[in-house]
Amino acid sequence: MNQTVSVIRCADYEISNVQQAVCQLLAPLGGLSWVRPGMRIALKANLVGAYRPQAAATTHPALLCVLTKMLVSRGAQVVIGDSPGGLFHPAALEHIYETTGMRQAESAGASLNLDVSQKIVHFDGAAAAKQFCVTAYLMQADAVINVCKLKTHGMMGMTAGAKNLFGIIPGTEKLQHHFRYAQPEAFADMILDLNAWLNPRLTICDAIVSMEGNGPTKGTPKHTGLLLASENPHALDLCCAHLMDLPPQQIPTLQRAVKRALTPAQISGLTLAGEPDALTPQPFVHVADKSSLQFRGHGGLAGQITGALAQRVFRTVPALAPALCTGCGHCAAICPAKAITICGGLARINRRVCIRCFCCQEFCPAGAMQAHKTLVSKALGRL
Ligand code: SF4
Ligand code: SF4
Repeated sequence: MNQTVSVIRCADYEISNVQQAVCQLLAPLGGLSWVRPGMRIALKANLVGAYRPQAAATTHPALLCVLTKMLVSRGAQVVIGDSPGGLFHPAALEHIYETTGMRQAESAGASLNLDVSQKIVHFDGAAAAKQFCVTAYLMQADAVINVCKLKTHGMMGMTAGAKNLFGIIPGTEKLQHHFRYAQPEAFADMILDLNAWLNPRLTICDAIVSMEGNGPTKGTPKHTGLLLASENPHALDLCCAHLMDLPPQQIPTLQRAVKRALTPAQISGLTLAGEPDALTPQPFVHVADKSSLQFRGHGGLAGQITGALAQRVFRTVPALAPALCTGCGHCAAICPAKAITICGGLARINRRVCIRCFCCQEFCPAGAMQAHKTLVSKALGRL
């Protein structure tokens, strides 16, 4: 795979600044010269839910607006879409487009996807996901550009390029995937399979304002002032991890990508273009202790058993901040393991059946579910 990653500074979401930065960003990758008149291009954004742009949970509309204008000027037809975590339904999508500022991109010439049809695909080249259901609008595109957002993530440590393509799985079908691929290694392999199957033409990361803390939806916006782009989402993720000061081996998708020879293990193995000096680690508040996110994959049966036990003991867990919980029951409805009940107006987690998918943390509207270290992790001083 191409191992070139372009990095450019961009101070804010002022359209003229983003436009200039995107042109500089894409130049080392050949620009958009591959776009031909009449091509249908899907911009697969991160529209995880109905969050305002300033919450930094979704791809900023200014970036999508600029990309739309550039593609339309080349004669392309542009559609913007995503499948959020809840219902994949036109009314839900309309609400999300409205809240996340996507009307701005619509004014620039994009259409906002309302096609909620789905297709089952078979992927013989998969390591884990040989058959899955996808949002059909992506299959009608001649090319897909993955336009992701850099954020912390309860289950995977970080979400940027590769993880954004979990959004090609329609709505609640994602919950089945969490159940089917409950272990981080299996989940990461499934994500890598989705990336290999969709094969986006480009991945562009909105890291102008990223998210730290209780990501990917209830964290704190953090100005990081960068845009990144690559033909290789895993190489781009390696740069994002470096920016967040997260060792790649602590991010399951990156660890598996290294193992599957999709990216080198260190950014020294990449070709950095644009403004490589801008890619310096910035202190991020992570979802929990960084080391407790570590995924332990070892060969052999004994290694696997040890790894599974270590994960059980050390992996972060969802935990309730009771003062924030409204007892709305949204987490109980979305939990794929049916591990949550509402008792006395508060969510209660049955840890024996919890698969640590962090859907409750991601979709709690009050930010009451958070990723915490396990008691053993704390006791061993992994603070
Ligand atoms: S979704 Fe959040 S606020 Fe609602 S019951 Fe669950 S933890 Fe409480
Ligand atoms: S309690 Fe939360 S983390 Fe555990 S299985 Fe349910 S949604 Fe996933």
